[in-house]
Amino acid sequence: MRKILIVGAGQSGLQLALTLREHDYDVTVMSARSPEEIRRGRVMSTQAMFHSALQSERDHGLNLWEADTVRIEGLGLSIAGPDGGRALDWFAPLDHYAQSVDQRVKMAGWAELFEERGGKLILHGVTTADLNGLVDLYDLVVVAAGKGELVGLFDRDAARSPYTVPQRALSLAYVHGLAPRPEHPTAPGVRFNIIPGVGELFMIPAYTLSGNCDILFFEGIPGGPLDCWDDHPKPAEHLRRILDLIERFLPWEYERCAKVELTDDHATLAGGYTPVVRRPVGNLPAGGAVLGMADVVVANDPITGQGSNNAAKCATSYLASILEHGDKPFDQEWMQATFDRYWASAHDVTVWTNALLQPPPPHVQQILGAAQANPAVARRFVNGFDDPSDFQDWFLDPEKAAAYLATA
Ligand SMILES: Cc1cc2nc3c(=O)[nH]c(=O)nc-3n(C[C@H](O)[C@H](O)[C@H](O)COP(=O)(O)OP(=O)(O)OC[C@H]3O[C@@H](n4cnc5c(N)ncnc54)[C@H](O)[C@@H]3O)c2cc1C
Repeated sequence: MRKILIVGAGQSGLQLALTLREHDYDVTVMSARSPEEIRRGRVMSTQAMFHSALQSERDHGLNLWEADTVRIEGLGLSIAGPDGGRALDWFAPLDHYAQSVDQRVKMAGWAELFEERGGKLILHGVTTADLNGLVDLYDLVVVAAGKGELVGLFDRDAARSPYTVPQRALSLAYVHGLAPRPEHPTAPGVRFNIIPGVGELFMIPAYTLSGNCDILFFEGIPGGPLDCWDDHPKPAEHLRRILDLIERFLPWEYERCAKVELTDDHATLAGGYTPVVRRPVGNLPAGGAVLGMADVVVANDPITGQGSNNAAKCATSYLASILEHGDKPFDQEWMQATFDRYWASAHDVTVWTNALLQPPPPHVQQILGAAQANPAVARRFVNGFDDPSDFQDWFLDPEKAAAYLATA
């Protein structure tokens, strides 16, 4: 039986581990934290996931919280105008619902499920020195450790990484008590509010330790008024600051916040990271090689809410590559080919996400404006979050955008 070690108990590592257990593999996951520590820890993400990524979980019986989790039926976009008004404001349905299950709930539950399904879970924060020895004990070592220190093993791919510093200051709070948007009281949706030159506020229906909730998630342009978290405020002050910023920049959303309260004591998060693509093969000082996965190799800014989706798609793609390889050695050539297969879809997400971090060029402004009057345009934009490859055919190219708008 082939032995596979996966370092990191997140979306990608646990999904790959659980799905490998359906086949004849001896799978070990090394996790820096126990399921209980994950559950009792701080929130990590907003983790909104769209249909095809959710389907990849359903296909393997990993959708343990689907029935309880609020269904995200669509996505609304608003652009703040002068005097507290909205220059644009529209909502379009998703063809299939999205969902967001707090990673504290999901990863803790999946880690326990992995053990129930015969996997070995070892609690250990893995170092490069550990990996030097571990590569000799396994047929394949996959590093799925997110943005942790092990990324240092994987060289940055400069040609695919246009940024060298974080593009947004991130700050979020999980809350109960958010009132629905009065225009769509019965259709829970992600609200994508753009404050030109300042940043974005996403409001995302989600499921957490205490049931359904909403996430208030600011992405602030560095140096601007939303970039104000360096003092790491305590949770109550963190929420108060988020609400003050909503009142100042997005008063129509503030009206919904009168009764919000934090879901728990660990429901806030602030920080930032540089979007980056790395080379997939990590060469160890002692000579062995490990394969990087998901955020380790492709970490995009969360402005498009794609990282967990990518992690799920990476798990599906790597599983197929492992199964198809049979008993042949998992050498560096195979590792590169395995990543290249995943990159075919991750490329489209990366290009689109990096584009959205920039001020919208004229053709994007035209698209977003046309969506206000034309539901077909709005629907195409919204459903691109499930399949970002579609944006290559219209959104990202001025000529293609003009051709599409002329016929839409
Ligand atoms: C604020 C924010 C909002 C986001 N919103 C969304 C969204 O709405 N939709 C979306 O799709 N994506 C979103 N993302 C991105 C998404 O959370 C990540 O892309 C996704 O979790 C990556 O999965 P992963 O498996 O690569 O890594 P992770 O989920 O980060 O898992 C890595 C695991 O490895 C463990 N680990 C790290 N180092 C070690 C070590 N040395 N030894 C052992 N274990 C280790 C960590 O503790 C962690 O459990 C968001 C991210 C942030 C920061």
